[in-house]
Amino acid sequence: MEGKRLTTIISILFISGFWLISCSQKQVVILDEGDLTAKAREIHDRVLTVDTHCDTPMVIVRGDWDIGERHEPGQRGSGKIDLPRMAEGGLDAEFFAVFVGQGERTPEGYAIAKERATRLLDAIHKMCKDYPHLVELALTPEDAYRLEREGKRAAFIGMENGYPIGKDISLIKKYYDRGIRYITLCHSSDNDICDSSTDRRNPEDNGLSDFGKQVVVECNRLGIMVDVSHVSDKSFFDVLKITKAPVIASHSSVRALCDHQRNLSDEMLEALASNGGVIQICFVSSFVKKAKPNPERDKALAELREKYGSLRETRDEAQREKIRQEYRAILEKYPTDMATIKDLIDHIDHVVKLIGVDHVGIGTDFDGGGGIEGCNNVSELPNITVELVRRGYSEEDIRKIWGGNIMRVLGKVIEIAGKTK
Ligand SMILES: [Zn+2]
Repeated sequence: MEGKRLTTIISILFISGFWLISCSQKQVVILDEGDLTAKAREIHDRVLTVDTHCDTPMVIVRGDWDIGERHEPGQRGSGKIDLPRMAEGGLDAEFFAVFVGQGERTPEGYAIAKERATRLLDAIHKMCKDYPHLVELALTPEDAYRLEREGKRAAFIGMENGYPIGKDISLIKKYYDRGIRYITLCHSSDNDICDSSTDRRNPEDNGLSDFGKQVVVECNRLGIMVDVSHVSDKSFFDVLKITKAPVIASHSSVRALCDHQRNLSDEMLEALASNGGVIQICFVSSFVKKAKPNPERDKALAELREKYGSLRETRDEAQREKIRQEYRAILEKYPTDMATIKDLIDHIDHVVKLIGVDHVGIGTDFDGGGGIEGCNNVSELPNITVELVRRGYSEEDIRKIWGGNIMRVLGKVIEIAGKTK
């Protein structure tokens, strides 16, 4: 068909509310919004879908909440993930985080961290024991693909913050034996392994420590993925210098689109691609899009702090609840503009344009601060695929983004560990 006529027809179709989807074979298929959603759902259900980060184990250990039950989205205390909603949202595999916040770097501190990690690990194993018909522990890509065929959820485990290792390298093997398949080297503060991207008390960046180097070597030896989310820029490049296996950023976004230290710069993304690794785009709204300044909200929050002091330092539970209530009321009165699915997919587009489709995936951080407009709990994950299809991603690309890339990295990490044994 002649170019000009085609353009005219395309314009008319757009005006009539149709979408044009260009397939990998360069055919042009015309879908209306309903067809587009249906096509996306079919793809979503056919491919292995993996989310590499959620903090749901923190909700499980509370003890008053059951992951095997469906919780209505949006209700207070419903959480963002449970097993029934995972099935609804077509999520096949989740990396449940054993998250331990950074505390004192003392023997007492390490003991508390170890105990906390054990409690979270126990909770994840208990979930698999309580609901064997719904979910099973996964350790390898083969496990994930098998469970997908069986219609069960795959529960991987990642450790967020290497703090529970303390200074005892032998603990990494113990955590590996309990199913941990990635370790995020640090969290919001510097630790014995490396410097964090967000430690305000200690802004100088010393990168990876000598102990941290041993941790990376031990992860490579055992077949644990090294996770560079949360680490400082120098730590990131130090890790890449010594790792023998590809690394992951389990929940980080793109700094070029949202200037935040937690996000990866283009230089980092290029280095990640050379390493064969993958960035799993994070759903924390403030890492996806900078919120517009809101002086009225800032003023109200400052007044709240003035009135009660900081929540962190308040011990009295009744007082804490009062602060939380007032805090929520302020956020409701002056809502922040949340990032949208389109904003999030812009991050995927950026990575794909810069380093290719083999190095990007999904790391929601649900129950740890993740949630955007249109995808604010696990049952809404198919909306991500709808936007990918709308933007012309092929089924093969979507397969890579949703799980193929991260499973490739895990497979490679296991293969490299096998060679060093
Ligand atoms: Zn995190």
